[in-house]
Amino acid sequence: MVILVVNCGSSSVKYKLLDMQEKKELVSGLAERIGIEGSKIKHEKADGGTLKLEQNLADHKAALEKIIECLTDDEYGVVNDIAEITAVGHRVVHGGEKFNKAVLINEDVLNELESLFDLAPLHNPPNVVGIKTCQELIPHAPQVAVFDTAFHQTIPDYAFNYALPYQYYEKYGIRKYGFHGTSHKYVSGRAATMLGKPLTDLKVVVCHLGNGSSITAVKNGVSVDTTMGFTPLAGLPMGTRTGDIDPAIIPFIMEKENLQPDDISNIMNKKSGVLGVSGISSDFRDLEDAEANGNERAALALNMFIYGVKRWIGAFGAAMGGLDAVAFTGGIGENGKELREKVLTGLEYLGLEVDAEKNNIRGKEQIITKDGGAVAMVVPTNEELMIAKETEALVIK
Ligand code: AMP
Repeated sequence: MVILVVNCGSSSVKYKLLDMQEKKELVSGLAERIGIEGSKIKHEKADGGTLKLEQNLADHKAALEKIIECLTDDEYGVVNDIAEITAVGHRVVHGGEKFNKAVLINEDVLNELESLFDLAPLHNPPNVVGIKTCQELIPHAPQVAVFDTAFHQTIPDYAFNYALPYQYYEKYGIRKYGFHGTSHKYVSGRAATMLGKPLTDLKVVVCHLGNGSSITAVKNGVSVDTTMGFTPLAGLPMGTRTGDIDPAIIPFIMEKENLQPDDISNIMNKKSGVLGVSGISSDFRDLEDAEANGNERAALALNMFIYGVKRWIGAFGAAMGGLDAVAFTGGIGENGKELREKVLTGLEYLGLEVDAEKNNIRGKEQIITKDGGAVAMVVPTNEELMIAKETEALVIK
């Protein structure tokens, strides 16, 4: 079975084609700057060969048509005909309260997704465009929606409600939804496999640390709490997002600086986080270099992030009544070995004792703590594989 995984952003399409029998990724690619000057596609075959195209891609349809040409290209293609694609799995950011698992897409599902535009105005509309375009261009293949929020639908009401007048939850669906669910689910599953224990017996804290970061408490295989909230702005400070701040700061700044809702939202999403604090970069490598060169604000931004991760690990240990494992994933979690060591230092009381030698790795599955006690580990995430597996499971049924 060959599954195409599609992740449509407002001006980009990320894709991967996976052969499920062979458990093999065949090709991955990215179409960027769709509808903007300078559109391009990078198409990389897993066993070598990269095709780079710079050409006008007026809309998502044009981009997906070109991607299909690449997939079936004589030299860079991996299938002879699109008929070989069994199904398409779409990453959909928001499934609201309606979707607690992946779903086969039909007319009703599309209508439901459109009714969720309010909750994810930047993400769900391009996701739906991607689905409709694939339905048109690959009509024989069933399409599946895999939601970033679905894994978190098990969070109990006392953890997902905000202490606002209850009518806002009822009227507008204002509650914690959580994101990165596909990654948290994949990584917690791999963590159990690495430990050789059933996930249903484990308490795992998954730290997905990247440009966007979130931490999830996975107890007995289900999400019981997560740091992101109504939107992906909540929780840890991130590359450019604030994470949790005192909500009273928002009207205060708006008044002082004479800002409109869009202005303050832009500041909180794009100009804050470690970029805002350091004034240098949202990229953790730049911040580590600057810190090494004595830049105090870069050091402050990193320390705030490290403190945040540490604090949430402790909080989620409390939420679950203990913890068996902490799994690091995402660009920073997989590669930032110094950062991992700093996060774990001081958590010995939880049974986590980092082993410097084992921790000296990037981007591969490995336990990084000393034997005995709780375990910390690195688990490279693979959201596309998880989407493909969920798609396969629905299509086989
Ligand atoms: P992601 O959003 O998961 O792709 O993660 C992107 C983040 O990972 C960026 O902030 C990068 O700085 C960070 N990252 C990538 N490689 C490293 C590294 N070697 N050390 C520290 N951070 C890294």
